Amino acid sequence: MAENVFGAVELGGTKTFVVIAEDKKNIISRHLFPTLSPKDTMENIATFFKNKSVELKLNIQKLGVGCFGPLDLNKDSALYGSITSTPKKGWEYFNIKRQLENALNVPVKIDTDVNASALGEYNHVYNSNINNFAYITIGTGIGGGFIINRQLVHGLVHPEFGHIRIPHNKKKDPFPGICPYHQDCLEGLASGPAITERWHQPSNSIPKDHVAWKLEAEYLSHAITNLICTISPELIVLGGGVMHQYQLFGLIHTKTKMVLNQYIKSKFIQEHIEEYIIPPRLHDDSGIMGALILAMQNTD
Ligand code: ZN
Repeated sequence: MAENVFGAVELGGTKTFVVIAEDKKNIISRHLFPTLSPKDTMENIATFFKNKSVELKLNIQKLGVGCFGPLDLNKDSALYGSITSTPKKGWEYFNIKRQLENALNVPVKIDTDVNASALGEYNHVYNSNINNFAYITIGTGIGGGFIINRQLVHGLVHPEFGHIRIPHNKKKDPFPGICPYHQDCLEGLASGPAITERWHQPSNSIPKDHVAWKLEAEYLSHAITNLICTISPELIVLGGGVMHQYQLFGLIHTKTKMVLNQYIKSKFIQEHIEEYIIPPRLHDDSGIMGALILAMQNTD
């Protein structure tokens, strides 16, 4: 008899990651392929799950998807499970949830990639005393996924933390920012492409002691301060490609304390900020593991 398992998909702007697992500890199969046109990508995903089901005698019960956004996550909407406005050709209003449900005939739970990452990190490794938790990704874009009272935050649409405003001293940093909507919002100033454009070199080739990182840490510290002052997270995880520059963590710890200026009375911030603002424990697997949890927890 076929074994009951779960499927997970992390659908990114450039790469698609797929996993079949019994549970969060037992991964049976994983595969990575480039994200192509919507039609080809859906076909690749469906083919992977169909072939593996036959080959390994598996019965995929549910599928979880963490997807680049923005997404329509309103269950009452006709577009539930679709990407909404995106400059990515062919993806605008493409209904990922419906396409995969039709192709694989299983229930599909979809959320944003950053919410999936937040869920993955929150569920996998942290102690059960944490109720409020934040995951921020700093890479091609910037996003935030938040757990409040142990639940992922959705709300009106879903949080768009990358587009908050932070102080921008144009004398010190004349770079105008690259967000097509707001120019110098957080993402416009501090995403990977913003770093590359400001300093005229790919961010991963900038030396570790370059002033670029001090400025980056300053922008991220302002954003983190806003986050601490609004949702009061008990733990903050910073992931994404830019945070592979681990020297940023020390700079962010120091600068966040300076910006907060001892206002928040918490020993975590005052004495152990290095245990409060931390790298992802699942490294680059936060998103796919979160997608797996979306599948496992789906009661729709
Ligand atoms: Zn923006």
